Amino acid sequence: MHFEETDEEKMFREMVHDFAQKYVAPAWRDYDKNHEIPRALIKKMAEHNLWAPTVAEEYGGANISMTVACIAAEELARADLSIALPVMYLVEASWAFIFDLHGTDEAKSEILPRVTKGDLFFGIATTEPTGGSDLVNVTKTIIKPKGDGFVVNGEKVYISGVAESEKYGGVYWTLAKSDPKGDHKAFDAFILPFNMGDGLHPGITTTLFEDMGRMGVSTGGFNMENVDIPKHYMIGERGRGFYLAMAGFSAARVLIGATCLGSAEGAFDIGVDYVKQRKQFGRPLAAFEGISFEGVDSWMQLQADKLLVYKAAYVMDQHYREKNPNYSQLDIAKFTAAAKFKAPHDALDIITRAMTWHGAFGYTKECPLEAAYRGVRSYTVGAEGGSHIQKVVIAREIFGPENLPYRQEKQK
Ligand SMILES: Cc1cc2nc3c(=O)[nH]c(=O)nc-3n(C[C@H](O)[C@H](O)[C@H](O)COP(=O)(O)OP(=O)(O)OC[C@H]3O[C@@H](n4cnc5c(N)ncnc54)[C@H](O)[C@@H]3O)c2cc1C
Repeated sequence: MHFEETDEEKMFREMVHDFAQKYVAPAWRDYDKNHEIPRALIKKMAEHNLWAPTVAEEYGGANISMTVACIAAEELARADLSIALPVMYLVEASWAFIFDLHGTDEAKSEILPRVTKGDLFFGIATTEPTGGSDLVNVTKTIIKPKGDGFVVNGEKVYISGVAESEKYGGVYWTLAKSDPKGDHKAFDAFILPFNMGDGLHPGITTTLFEDMGRMGVSTGGFNMENVDIPKHYMIGERGRGFYLAMAGFSAARVLIGATCLGSAEGAFDIGVDYVKQRKQFGRPLAAFEGISFEGVDSWMQLQADKLLVYKAAYVMDQHYREKNPNYSQLDIAKFTAAAKFKAPHDALDIITRAMTWHGAFGYTKECPLEAAYRGVRSYTVGAEGGSHIQKVVIAREIFGPENLPYRQEKQK
């Protein structure tokens, strides 16, 4: 058992830490207000090999492990407490990674070099108006063969990065059913050429939602009316889309854990510094056990979350990189769901305590903690799967799939 980072991992952490403190920390308050991460910052991330770095080197990525990708997420979120830039980073690092594993060579050569350069956003679109949790019953988006390729009709909602993709270019890893009455085996995964740099693809129209946090990243939706999809944009075999989506969610979830851990660490440091210097009743707030014991609770949560997040990353690396047969996709799903559940919930506790320690100042926009609260809250609400769904995933592995509520319904 190793609880130490390797020398290479330490050097990487230092590099990302320095980068994030130099370029991200001074910038996030502006993009939190202006609702757009500057292109120059994204290009700078790409120059430092931090944009979709999990992708193979031949496509401009750095082929880094999930463990290393988590280190970057943690350091970026320490610097950007609103977590907008880390959100963009993690969506690309997870979904482009799964695309790299299962996409066609032709599509990967066309798309991934533009993604790793920061020119095309690589997003994910599964959620529909009928809901995101019960994915099997998401039936609005339908894909049909047409000529040599496919045609898609439907609607996706609550999708990250819609405004940026419309403005600058982007593609979406999209899920659609070939038969609305089919089960999970009726799903195809494919690349939606949303905006290849020359404006929205014909047949796509967009909407935007104003949400409460991570303001540097937009949330929107889009309609697809007779959108043509080239044959080579299909990801993996037809009918395997649901399984590939689950693999993508797992990759995103471990990085979400690392992101929320980083944001909580940043908030914790700010809180500790503050209560050591702020005096009430003639002594520093930190000298009151009502405060310091809360700090101890926060510290213990951080330790537990760090172990859980990096264990989940380890399980992924054992499966994908080491090809270790002891770690299956189901193990990955269980550990990454746990990281996705626990780190954001603990982060909210930690951020809330640090805010409260700041008194009225903690409730103002002058204090960075309110942005951390808003940002992290997205991951306890629903982004990349609601909290309850993480427990459904873990329960399935503990109690067996036969005890899933929807399987029980079928048995009646
Ligand atoms: C900020 C943000 C960004 C997002 N970005 C994207 C994106 O880029 N791409 C994308 O495809 N989607 C995205 N989503 C959507 C997200 O995936 C969905 O919100 C999520 O899957 C939940 O779906 P829903 O919102 O339709 O809620 P519902 O599925 O209607 O669920 C409502 C509530 O019920 C709970 N629930 C559902 N089933 C059960 C159950 N069996 N037992 C107990 N509780 C249950 C859920 O956890 C949730 O709290 C984003 C969401 C947010 C908030």
